[in-house]
Amino acid sequence: MAHPVAVIGAGPYGLSTAAHLRALGIPVRVFGDPMVSWRSRMPAGMLLKSTPAASDIDAPQRGHRLIDYCDAAGIPRLVTDEDIVPVETFVRYGLWFAERLVPDLEQVRVVAVDRAPAAGRGATAAAGFVLKLDSGEQFTARAVVVATGLTGAAHLPPGLAEEAPAGGAVPPAAGVSRSSQHSDLASFAGRDLIVVGAGQSALESAVLAAEAGARVRIVSRTVPGFGGPPSRQPRLRPRSPFGRAWSLYAISHHAGLYRCLPAGVRHHFVHRILGPLGAWWLRERFEGAVQVSTVRGIEGVTSSAGRPVLAARTEDGTTGELTADHVIAATGYRVDLAALDWLGHEVRAGLATSRGTPRLGAGYRSSVPGLYFTGLPAAASYGPVMRFVCGTSYASPRLARQLAAAHP
Ligand SMILES: Cc1cc2nc3c(=O)[nH]c(=O)nc-3n(C[C@H](O)[C@H](O)[C@H](O)COP(=O)(O)OP(=O)(O)OC[C@H]3O[C@@H](n4cnc5c(N)ncnc54)[C@H](O)[C@@H]3O)c2cc1C
Repeated sequence: MAHPVAVIGAGPYGLSTAAHLRALGIPVRVFGDPMVSWRSRMPAGMLLKSTPAASDIDAPQRGHRLIDYCDAAGIPRLVTDEDIVPVETFVRYGLWFAERLVPDLEQVRVVAVDRAPAAGRGATAAAGFVLKLDSGEQFTARAVVVATGLTGAAHLPPGLAEEAPAGGAVPPAAGVSRSSQHSDLASFAGRDLIVVGAGQSALESAVLAAEAGARVRIVSRTVPGFGGPPSRQPRLRPRSPFGRAWSLYAISHHAGLYRCLPAGVRHHFVHRILGPLGAWWLRERFEGAVQVSTVRGIEGVTSSAGRPVLAARTEDGTTGELTADHVIAATGYRVDLAALDWLGHEVRAGLATSRGTPRLGAGYRSSVPGLYFTGLPAAASYGPVMRFVCGTSYASPRLARQLAAAHP
């Protein structure tokens, strides 16, 4: 029997890719903790910034959109741009999607991916890959799709990091944690909290902690901004999952063209387009509840009486100090192939990269035959839409078709 395709990841991208591969008749093994980024790396009470229509996980068959889940679960339909999706609903939707389309998902970790030894004389790179699982099992896959999303990608600016240990991931300084470490912000009730960042995650974490009774200060390089309500979208521009604008339409529906831009431009825009901005519905809850300090940068963190003290370069060029009981870094996500430490040496050596991200060709294929990347690791090639769930509708059918053609 032909070796299966291995999909590493059971978030929206892994599940969607697996559903598309299955629909093409390709045997697939899917690994990961389903919807774990949403279940345990986001705060309880969070609301999605994306609209219901932009929160569909793409499937090849009809009947698997968020609205279909609402109907199946007997809950009010989330359908208009004004409807707001609670994270708990989105998690249940993802698990429902998995149960229906990826029922044999394997909740184990992949701990190693290496090239399979070529089978005999004249054998080519088509031999595939040997995967090791943390269950102890080892098996051969004809192709591998990496859909590991946010795992290991939380970015920490140097000023908030402990001094880096040689060769390892950089831990936060004492008194500092990453936003992905908090699923219950109510634990900060009655305490002084600094949240560093100006994106939706920072602003919403700040609001949730303040609403739970914490005294919260946002520290960021820019004054926090908020989007406009759906009713104020310009009518004469094309619709996109992110609002009405030609540029947003282009990056959403023609993500493949992003690959044609020069590398410098792609890396510059991948985090700037759809960059830090709070959701329209968050402004009212934020203003008056959260203090704001704009700074030019954070130079470091020390500790005084067990409390973290941020040394921040202020607007006038001097250095000031900000103290709290705790500091949360909500400073975004960056792809770093070094975090995929299970990628074997030979695979890694054959992987063409650009600033630490895989360089991808058509159909999400990497320079290693049989190795594909989708979701966040594909964003530097296919643009900012890959940072969001709605990107599954562009990525998954194309990746599945490419893979089916190259590894039938
Ligand atoms: C606070 C916050 C709010 C967000 N809000 C929105 C929003 O409103 N709308 C939106 O579209 N996007 C939002 N995003 C972005 C969204 O999280 C991502 O677009 C989405 O989760 C990416 O899905 P994914 O499947 O690529 O990865 P993830 O959801 O991160 O899933 C990764 C999967 O990989 C698995 N995995 C990792 N390593 C291994 C391994 N070695 N072996 C086996 N499995 C492995 C994990 O178990 C998991 O199943 C938000 C992000 C954050 C941080």
